[in-house]
Order: sequence, then structure tokens, then C-alpha cells
Amino acid sequence: MPAADRLRLALGDGGPDMGSATLAVLAGPVGVVFAGVFGALLGSFLNVCVHRLPRGESIIRPRSRCPGCGHLIAWYDNVPLLSWLALGARCRHCRAAISVQYPLVELAVALVWAGAVAWRGPSLGALAAAVFVTLLLGMALTDAQSYLIPDLFSVGGMVVGLVFTALPGGLAWWMGPLGAALGYGLLWVVRWAGDAALRRGLIGGQELDAVLEEGEQPTTMGEGDLRMMAMVGAFLGPIGVVLTVFLGALAGTLVFLPLRLLGRRIAIPFGVFLAAGAVAALLVGEPLLAWYLRAALGR
Ligand SMILES: [Zn+2]
Repeated sequence: MPAADRLRLALGDGGPDMGSATLAVLAGPVGVVFAGVFGALLGSFLNVCVHRLPRGESIIRPRSRCPGCGHLIAWYDNVPLLSWLALGARCRHCRAAISVQYPLVELAVALVWAGAVAWRGPSLGALAAAVFVTLLLGMALTDAQSYLIPDLFSVGGMVVGLVFTALPGGLAWWMGPLGAALGYGLLWVVRWAGDAALRRGLIGGQELDAVLEEGEQPTTMGEGDLRMMAMVGAFLGPIGVVLTVFLGALAGTLVFLPLRLLGRRIAIPFGVFLAAGAVAALLVGEPLLAWYLRAALGR
């Protein structure tokens, strides 16, 4: 068996062949478009979650209002992508600007869902990949904007990941719990080492102090990052966790080391880089590992 096959990371190979004529249609362009439309709607909901969860607000009630004038946003002004374009990025009533982040997130999630179906066909594997990346995007956005990773994404996502991993076509059922434990534990060790460096003044600075609450201990990483990696492990299994942390740390270093050398001290939203590492592990983890084993170990 080639190394790449033995190294199947996670989320399965697309699951059992479903075969029927209906599913054959769904596997084609119709299915991809359908997934994209669903993704755009889900992206609209993700915008609500990203805005409200860090503030501790309900994501179900109340309905969305314009932050400028307080008008309830009508359904026809809330159609993903299209409304933002039709309204010229402004509120219908008060003409307050609507952030380009809203349509960008809707577009991104639409592309993720369409891409997952195009990649794996209409299958559990496609569903798992799309849910996984959507949750990662949510965590990256809240971490970047507020240094918070809501439990709904991390802990809730971990539970969903454990279910997907145990379903037919996924990894062996025990790979999810093992990956989740390893993800949490690995970051716990990284945080422990990072905090030791912080106490010695090797890293950190005023900007970090600025995001801390009164009396809060400075730390290199929040509990949210650890829970996020438990979620990644539940979806990708133990090998995927190691790859994600490696790739995420590499990306974070490549971005922040130059800033650090220029004398800027910035609090790093590590979740953003872990999300990028997890997507990379999902998409190219297997060929990357196979290549590494061949090149480095001569296997
Ligand atoms: Zn308004």
C-alpha cells in the first residue's frame, strides 16, 4: 500500500458510494450550486454568530437591526451577497456603511460548501469538511476581532467532529477522542513553555497588556486556543493535530517574526494561524506527510 493511503488523515474518502440517479445529479453542477447557495445562507448566520457570540448575546433573538438607526433589517435587505450589492453597501434607511466583511464571509462560506461538494461529491466526507472549515472561519474571525474563541464553535464543534469521525467513511471512532485530547494537551504544553518565556520577558509587551482585563495574568494563549485544538483533533485525528500545530506555528512565525524584528510587540491572535494550519492539514496534509516520509526517512 502506498504511504499516502496508509496516512489517510481524517474525514474519510467521501464515504460509501450512494449510486442513485438523484445523487448522481447532486454530484454534478446542480449539487455544487445548491451547496454554494446553502453556504451563502449559512455564511449570513455565521456573520451573526461572529458579531454576537463574543459579546455574550443570543444568536437567535432579537432579529438583526442596523447599528446606525436601529431599523429592523427586512428579509429582502438580508439576502446573502445580493442585498449588500443592491444597497451599495449602505443601510436603506440611514445610509450608514455596511462592512464589506458581511458579503466576504457569505462568499467565503459559499465557496467552502460548493468546493467541498465539488471535491468529495455529495457525501458525509464533504459535509464534514464543509462544517469543519466553516467553524474554523468563525473562530479565526472572533479571535482576530476580539481575542475570543466562543465555546459554541470550539466545544460545540468538537462534539460534531467526534460524531463525524465515528460515522462510516470517517476515521476509526477512537481517532476523534484521541485527536481531541492530543490537540488540547499539545497546546497546553506550548502555552506552558510560552508563559515561561513570557515571565522572563522574552516575549509580550504593552499591546498584550492592553487586551488583558484588570488583574488578569498575562499568558501567551487563551483557554479558547486549547479548546479550538481539541475541536481540530476531533475532526482530523492525532496526525492532523500535529500537522496543524506545526503549520499554524510556522505561519504565525513567518508573519510575526518580521514585525517583532522591526520592534513591534503585538498580541497574536493565534487562533487565526491555527485555523489556517488546520485548513492546510485538511487539504494537503496527506501528500505533505507522504512527501516528508519519502524525502526525510527514505520510506
Ligand atoms: Zn440604518
